[in-house]
Amino acid sequence: MNTTLTICPWCGCGCSLLLREREGKIVGALPSSDCPVSQGRLCVKGWNCYEYVRSPLRLVSPLMRKKGTGYKKRTDSLDDFQEVSWGKALKFVASKFKDIREKKGSVALGLLSSAKCTNEENYLMMKLARAVLQTNNIDHCARLCHSSTVVGLARAFGSGAMTNSIEEIEKAEVILVTGSNTTEQHPEIGSRIIRRVLKGAKLILVDPRKIHLAKFATLHLQARPGTDVAWINGLIHVILKEGLADSDFIDRNTENFSSMREIVEKYTPQFVEEITGIPAEQLIEAARIYGSARQAMIFYAMGITQHVTGTDNVLSLANLSMVTGHVGRPSTGVNPLRGQNNVQGACDMGALPNFLTGYQKVEDRDSRKKFEQCWEVKLPTVAGLTETEMFVEGNPVQALYIMGENPLLSEPNIGHMEKFMKFLEFLVVQDIFFTETARWADVILPGGSFAEKDGTFTSTERRIQRVREVVKPMGESQADWKIICQLAKELGYPMGYSHPAQIMEEIASLTPIYGGVSYPRLDKIGALQWPCPEDSHPGTPYLHKGGFKRGRGLFTPVEYEPPREITDEEYPFLLTTGRVYQQWHTGTMSRLTFTLHREVPQAFVEMNPRDGLFLGVKNRQLIKVISRRGEIIAKAFLTERVREKTIFIPFHFSEAAANRLTVDSLDPQAKIPEYKVCAVKIELCGENN
Ligand code: SF4
Repeated sequence: MNTTLTICPWCGCGCSLLLREREGKIVGALPSSDCPVSQGRLCVKGWNCYEYVRSPLRLVSPLMRKKGTGYKKRTDSLDDFQEVSWGKALKFVASKFKDIREKKGSVALGLLSSAKCTNEENYLMMKLARAVLQTNNIDHCARLCHSSTVVGLARAFGSGAMTNSIEEIEKAEVILVTGSNTTEQHPEIGSRIIRRVLKGAKLILVDPRKIHLAKFATLHLQARPGTDVAWINGLIHVILKEGLADSDFIDRNTENFSSMREIVEKYTPQFVEEITGIPAEQLIEAARIYGSARQAMIFYAMGITQHVTGTDNVLSLANLSMVTGHVGRPSTGVNPLRGQNNVQGACDMGALPNFLTGYQKVEDRDSRKKFEQCWEVKLPTVAGLTETEMFVEGNPVQALYIMGENPLLSEPNIGHMEKFMKFLEFLVVQDIFFTETARWADVILPGGSFAEKDGTFTSTERRIQRVREVVKPMGESQADWKIICQLAKELGYPMGYSHPAQIMEEIASLTPIYGGVSYPRLDKIGALQWPCPEDSHPGTPYLHKGGFKRGRGLFTPVEYEPPREITDEEYPFLLTTGRVYQQWHTGTMSRLTFTLHREVPQAFVEMNPRDGLFLGVKNRQLIKVISRRGEIIAKAFLTERVREKTIFIPFHFSEAAANRLTVDSLDPQAKIPEYKVCAVKIELCGENN
């Protein structure tokens, strides 16, 4: 039996774990007592993280769509594809990319990288896009979850990442959690928050649902979905009125305070109550608790970011932290919880249309020059299209290369996505399973799972850690970095790496925040938190010590704006979407993990019992949920977790895909869709079953 230390492939907590392998099969996972995040624990997903690795449904050889099987149509059968050699598949892909580029220019090519793949693979995908295909049309699913964080925090502080570390929860006096069902989405962080609260810290929870954390909260402010700017401005209003602001910090470290103060003047607790439904006295109490603490941490996730005002919401939280001086010190800060295992790393690696690695702007000539010298090629100068812009009809993208993403389930308004796919001339999907997106592909390339490759992941707290090969890739599948290298060669740009360690050397040489990162160091000390600019640097647990990265922290005046789609007589319910503990994103891996899928095998609709009574809906009855964009059928689950006139649906289940209903309106700054609020109506469609 062999035991290998590696990193959990699910959420951004970045728990390290030990995989046990016998005769080419992984037979178990164990927690690692040295892991600073989980401290020897794992959640249910971590314990079962290896089950899907040897699933009989894995893609194990390259596939090309057979002629006459419905070109540009979805197919649910692998029989519509033929197995081909790697050589044939990659030659075909390269020739199609060259052909389309010749006829329509590089702007006609788009690439989606993957928050599930390693840093090295994301770096190579980015290099393939920019150096080889000459396009900046590269993005990944951070667009759909935390692009508003990257834009908002970078503007306010100069860096778009989590400011502090998970371990610092231990010393926080107050913890404000909003828009994050932490115990389900980031279980090990959720459990640390609970442990800290049980030792005396105060927890302020702002969430429309009575999630598990509500049981431990000093205060639970049940705000209406989409009203975040209003309650955050309200907190700042009370903090200023009651003299709880940190004037010294504001004077020494920030700018533009007075224009922000002017805006929050009208957000009295009574005015905020009208907008948000939060009782005025609760808002005042929350402001007093957060404003009087010495060390207060803010944690948030997609309940804040996935709105047309996502960037404004993030800027408001930055305002709140700066007005009280709760940033730039241990156990403080504004802490976005990144969803997938390596979404932070995929952003760091420049799998974004406007940034090279380490957030160096593609439009900055000096940054480009450094990469041009290393890569010995001229680079495109104008920022590319975001993922959400690539899926708009009339955009120039004609060929897409999608690695490890499933936009046909994860994008909002799936019906629109399906129409868009018919306009695409060529689609390549590289994945480990036959996803909803792969069903539209012309060519499918079988990639490697996390246990079949070496590399690094960067967790939500900027912690870079080693991922290690435990078993060989299944069948003819290959680690994704190898596939990208072979494709680059077919395109006339050989990439001669023999191990991901060499790729990391190149990343470190081009990326100041990763400058001191190397495999020998990681293997020796376990992990490094960026910024880590040089070999002797120990890494950085918290950001903005002694001053903000941008110089002075920038206050931004932000006005409340209602969600793009609000309820009316025809569509009287607000739908909000999210995840459940036992499933994961589009379910590609978790639904093929027997132990997880057994627990929550199908979609459900959380509905308040009083709404159920009014509509005549019984518990577990099938209901139809209809929005202006589509409809789905799922079982009702009557629960006080949701407030009246609000329903909640998890988005993991393709047969009842919540994203058939969601609205595709975008935040104008970050281009993130408004997943968290849309208007729906309910119809009955069956008896209890
Ligand atoms: Fe894996 Fe996240 Fe669970 Fe840790 S908390 S074991 S990283 S899913």
